[in-house]
Amino acid sequence: MTDDHPRYVAKELDADDQLAHLRDRFVIADDDLIYLDGNSLGRLPAATPAHLDRLVRHGWGEQLVRSWPTWIEWGRRLGDRLARHALGARPGEVVVSDSTSVNLYKLAAAALDAAPADRRTVLVDAEDFPTDRYVVQGLAAARGLTVRALPSDLDDGLRLDRLRNALDHRVALVLLSTVSYRSGALLDMGAVNAAARAVGAVVLWDLSHAAGAVPVDLTGTGTDLAVGCTYKYLNAGPGAPAFLYVRREAQDRLRQPIQGWFGQRDQFLMSAAYDPAPGLDRFLVGTPPILSLAALDPALDILAEAGIDRVRRKGTRLGELLVELADAWLTPYGFRLASPRDPRRRGSHVTLHHPEALRISRALATEGRVVGDYRTPDRLRLGPAPLYTRFVDVWDAMDRLRDIAARRAWERMPGEPSRVT
Ligand SMILES: *Cc1c(COP(=O)(O)O)cnc(C)c1O
Repeated sequence: MTDDHPRYVAKELDADDQLAHLRDRFVIADDDLIYLDGNSLGRLPAATPAHLDRLVRHGWGEQLVRSWPTWIEWGRRLGDRLARHALGARPGEVVVSDSTSVNLYKLAAAALDAAPADRRTVLVDAEDFPTDRYVVQGLAAARGLTVRALPSDLDDGLRLDRLRNALDHRVALVLLSTVSYRSGALLDMGAVNAAARAVGAVVLWDLSHAAGAVPVDLTGTGTDLAVGCTYKYLNAGPGAPAFLYVRREAQDRLRQPIQGWFGQRDQFLMSAAYDPAPGLDRFLVGTPPILSLAALDPALDILAEAGIDRVRRKGTRLGELLVELADAWLTPYGFRLASPRDPRRRGSHVTLHHPEALRISRALATEGRVVGDYRTPDRLRLGPAPLYTRFVDVWDAMDRLRDIAARRAWERMPGEPSRVT
């Protein structure tokens, strides 16, 4: 069977890979461990430890509070870098701050408060990431609005005609993920924005599984609002602050609900009453976590060097190889593709369905030394992040997965859920 898909073909793809050298820019602590979970927590860039060490010793240890005039600009500076290298936004439209969940709350609330009173519906994808749905449920409950959860296909994502049918003049806000966390299904942001605009509704995009993996064109797609995290394909480290985007023209007519001093006009005048700063600053809340923020710089250096279009091209090819091998090798063992088959409709991860996916993912990690993850229901998610994953890693991972399936090695694994999957 291997003869049909020999390993040397993967080796040749690596030899042709213009991004191959960038793998050395990451810490690869164990070369035998195949890491296909960069969509959950990106790898550590090799430059990050020294960068943070310098910041801690010099910026904090020696300069102390005198560093703040520099630090205070970092959320905006990093937002502009992200806008340029990953998001297709203009300067002054993206800022790095808070978590994705908190930014969702801020922007969804701002959009709902600005919507006309007769718009009483919020649309979400019923299969979207939990925090997105929960945040909207809470906001809607507090305002007496209705959340309509649109049914979407677990493997193929939300159909545009289904969304169009649900859009009318009663819709205030639509919350969607560009790339589905479960299946990797990729939505056409421009088409969705246009459909929503036609009925006067606002779309808030979650770019968490798209940023750093697929080119996002916030300006070109006519996006008003977006959020996303930096610890997945953007490699800024566990719990690194998220980003938010507000289209320039919309900034001054929106108000976010957390009235902190970083969102205040002339912050250091310490005025009695809250008066939101003009522009993007009004979407800030409080003192930024400088040590976490700092890790985004070395990560973005690598992305900038690679170029998001080349990252996407490689990500597409890695996914195609993965799907080809899954079809050939794993179908006989009861696996089936649980992502869109067309790579243009997929982000950078690929999901496989198997009734024993949880135990298989455990056997794959322990015996196979391949780290992917399990997602409900019955899905094994494999994310070959393009900046540091080789084609041969995908080949070896699928070979090890086939071996585990053939030997039924997963039967020895516990089937109970754990605190983190
Ligand atoms: C990863 C992810 C989040 C994470 O939110 P946090 O506030 O960082 O926990 C939110 N939404 C989506 C769609 C995600 O993929």
